[in-house]
Amino acid sequence: MSASCVFILPTGSIDMSNKTLNLDADLYRYLQLASLREPEVLQALREKTAELPLAVMQVSPEQGQFMALLVRLLGARRCLEVGVFTGYSALAVALALPKDGRLVGCDIEAGYTDVAQRYWRKAGVEDKITLHLAPAVDTLQALIDAGESDSYDFAFIDADKTSYRRYYEQCLTLLRPGGLVAIDNVLWGGAVADASNNEADTVAIRELNDFIATDERVDISMVPIGDGLTLARKR
Ligand code: CA
Repeated sequence: MSASCVFILPTGSIDMSNKTLNLDADLYRYLQLASLREPEVLQALREKTAELPLAVMQVSPEQGQFMALLVRLLGARRCLEVGVFTGYSALAVALALPKDGRLVGCDIEAGYTDVAQRYWRKAGVEDKITLHLAPAVDTLQALIDAGESDSYDFAFIDADKTSYRRYYEQCLTLLRPGGLVAIDNVLWGGAVADASNNEADTVAIRELNDFIATDERVDISMVPIGDGLTLARKR
């Protein structure tokens, strides 16, 4: 461990005076009114997705906007997405990329990614996005085998939770130093903090969170946006 790095592991009582606010409906609405700049095509895709089963899997508009800002801050040109669903986050990212920017998307559910591709075309970003309909571990491994390690700027992981640990390792390999991986659902509706919850998904997320907490290959922040988003910057 480097001399400047001290891990704070809370023991006993925790000072709650400056913890993140719980957003009630009014305050959440205020946050959206005061800050959301959702392009029409993203709004249309969000409304389309809301009609579908599993609509809850879609990232919130403020999270999409946050990710687009991160992509711009990074000056990202090459992005990865593990878990495309109906393509909202990929579209938010693609719209933030420069003309020559590229996003590789991984998913296995053509029924949802058909919707994604329709809206990517509507937005005129379909040339920026390459969709691989195959298990993401295979797609990411193929990129590594093709010599693309250390070449991506940004990765978003939002897929089957029991594979999160493998996705994290593969994405970290593919990122350049200074690149960022964002991992979704790290608070898992609060279940990660419930010691009596030992469902496979909960355990997988908890184990990855524990691992990343002391992973010295990355600088980190666990951001309580949406269902919790860990940002890990490759050193
Ligand atoms: Ca998610």
